[in-house]
Amino acid sequence: MEAELKTVASDLASLVRQSSRAVAFTGAGISTESGIPDFRSPGGLWTQNKPIPYQAFVASREVRAEAWRRKFTMDDSFRGAQPARGHLALARLVDLGRLRGVITQNIDNLHQESGLNESSIIEIHGNGTYASCLSCSHRYELAWVRERFEASAVAPDCEVCGGPVKSATISFGQAMPERQLRRALAWSTDCDLFLAIGSSLVVHPAAGLPVAAKESGARLVILNREPTPLDDLADMVIRADIGTVLDAVRRELDGGAQD
Ligand SMILES: [Zn+2]
Repeated sequence: MEAELKTVASDLASLVRQSSRAVAFTGAGISTESGIPDFRSPGGLWTQNKPIPYQAFVASREVRAEAWRRKFTMDDSFRGAQPARGHLALARLVDLGRLRGVITQNIDNLHQESGLNESSIIEIHGNGTYASCLSCSHRYELAWVRERFEASAVAPDCEVCGGPVKSATISFGQAMPERQLRRALAWSTDCDLFLAIGSSLVVHPAAGLPVAAKESGARLVILNREPTPLDDLADMVIRADIGTVLDAVRRELDGGAQD
């Protein structure tokens, strides 16, 4: 690793070591190393398979069928995605007691797959690996939906109440999950170090969390490939490869090899 990056990782490791209530906040940038592209980036599969806004989904059965077609197309192309160095590093920091947990905008389940348990994760945009009824919240597995969708080309309804079944993600135009947002805000205002990782920090209300942390006296670190609107507010801005930096921090705090 180049010397400059090593120094940066070392500085970040020191901040984590000094803190007692650190929290991480992650966006799409932590999962690109796992092969999952940010849907905001131009081109590629996302162009033909854009997520469908909530109102359109609810309003029409045909749109729901199209939403499932796109969803399964994307799932097939990302099948087998594994947690990357960034996910694994954060999971290790939680294990070491260095990190309270991870608030994530991602819906890819990779924090869970890296070994974090549910009490250490807050998903503010939901989860794309299962579905639920929009009326009664009954949970459905994707395999259940897919079997019915592929047999009939019709989006299945809830077997309990007849309501529309949707992947358990928060779509554009859909209300944010109140309980998860309250937990996220509580973690943010209660932390002494807020690590914003791989998020462009432009989508609200998620982008309000680092501000809330900062206003409550926490240090703010922003680790992202691109500049963010909150860079001026941060105590430390790292514009480098997420996996490389977090892996180096993890090794320092693990007391392992220094390469
Ligand atoms: Zn239902």
